[in-house]
Amino acid sequence: QGAGPDDVAAFAREHDARLVDLKFTDLPGTWQHFAVAARELEEDLLTAGAGFDGSSIRGFQSIDESDMLLVPDPSTAVIDPFHEQPTLSLVCDVRDPATGAPYSRDPRHVARKAERHLAASGVADTAFFGPEAEFYVFDHVAYAQQANRAFYEVDSGEGFWNAGAGFSSNGERLTPNLASRNRSQQGYFPAPPLDTLADLRGRMALTLERMGVVVEVHHHEVGGPGQAEIDLRFLPLLQMADAVQLYKYVVRNVARRAGKTATFMPKPIFAENGSGMHTHQSLWRAGETLMFDADGYGLLSELARHYVGGLLAHAPALLAFSAPTTNSYKRLVPGYEAPVSLLYSQRNRSAAVRVPVYFSSPKSKRVEFRSPDPTANPYLAFAAMLMAGLDGIRHRTEPPDPVDANLYELPPERQQSIRQAPTSLDAVLDALEADRDFLLDGDVFTRDLLDAYVAHKRAEIDEVRLRPHPWEFALYYDS
Ligand code: GLN
Ligand code: MG
Ligand code: MG
Ligand code: MG
Repeated sequence: QGAGPDDVAAFAREHDARLVDLKFTDLPGTWQHFAVAARELEEDLLTAGAGFDGSSIRGFQSIDESDMLLVPDPSTAVIDPFHEQPTLSLVCDVRDPATGAPYSRDPRHVARKAERHLAASGVADTAFFGPEAEFYVFDHVAYAQQANRAFYEVDSGEGFWNAGAGFSSNGERLTPNLASRNRSQQGYFPAPPLDTLADLRGRMALTLERMGVVVEVHHHEVGGPGQAEIDLRFLPLLQMADAVQLYKYVVRNVARRAGKTATFMPKPIFAENGSGMHTHQSLWRAGETLMFDADGYGLLSELARHYVGGLLAHAPALLAFSAPTTNSYKRLVPGYEAPVSLLYSQRNRSAAVRVPVYFSSPKSKRVEFRSPDPTANPYLAFAAMLMAGLDGIRHRTEPPDPVDANLYELPPERQQSIRQAPTSLDAVLDALEADRDFLLDGDVFTRDLLDAYVAHKRAEIDEVRLRPHPWEFALYYDS
């Protein structure tokens, strides 16, 4: 499936790797790992797997049924450059040690099932995904004693609000990349020396390439203080979800080694562009695209239009996976190129679905869902998007009429008829609970996974809701 070596043990020997790092993804989407000795490759690591305790993995089993097994996928083998000792990295599937059955809450299993469901539907044999994950790079200045102190330092002038400095979860003080800070209003990608992050992005891009991920472009993004984007060449769903995990890992680790930090948080700085993960999607059968029709709106085929219809109809529920944090809804507001209207368009960047139009290239025909952000668990988010699109195809769902005009110049009746994206994590979790049948088709998602996911996310909402917010001090601290 992937591009890994035929013989993983030989590959490890060739690179003198003494350690094997086993990686898998928890329910919210973070890579977890542990390392075993490379000699295990000569024994039965690849077939029997390695056991671990799943009870403290977010969203996984409770303590009384916590034993789990990781079975490596040999096609993901790659040398991991972020270890001192030569280390082979393998992405794994999570299984039940007693039965060998795939674990129903393993996000990678959901992505696999989505691909199988697509093939079984007869609609297409391959779904390609092309995400554009944006991120911010911050200078790593000093350490605060405790993250919570930030809430009391808010009033100390400029820092926290205006320049957008904040505190990370381990209490590091973050400040915007000062060198690129005044660039805000100068267009978004002047050449160096104004672009102070060009070499850092280059290092990230070439590290990814060395690890087998094809990079198409890297550039500064619109956000003045250090926003960046690196785009990967499209891949089938599961392979791309693996690649997104690797991408985030490389971006964070290269930044860290340069004494900086990178964050995929959707809206780290008030009044600057947020970080999205626009996701390009296309369906193919027997090597031919199913997306193109020279006579269709935006050169889209009927099938592609129905796919868009499905994405838009299920968008509120989809956002629970594709914009899955409380912070996501600080990005999805008007004015920052993030979409708020649930419609599609060839032009309008406030539309949730954009249709890139290149008349000369039918093969590149795809739709771009712009609502997602990089806090999404890529396995779950891509699977959910595919399920929404397939549901649209099955029910021949027509999207609302496309709008290419400036939305604010439309007559008020038309403006009012345009559905808007929900504005909070709570609202999209409600939407998911009310609209989840399309995800259960073919057992791609299970009720158990959806319930565990929603419970985990509701707890995150409470964590934020129960804490005094810094801006409440500005509004209500009555000294
Ligand atoms: N940063 C914008 C977003 O939040 C996208 C900007 C762009 O790529 N044109 O979606
Ligand atoms: Mg882009
Ligand atoms: Mg971008
Ligand atoms: Mg885009």
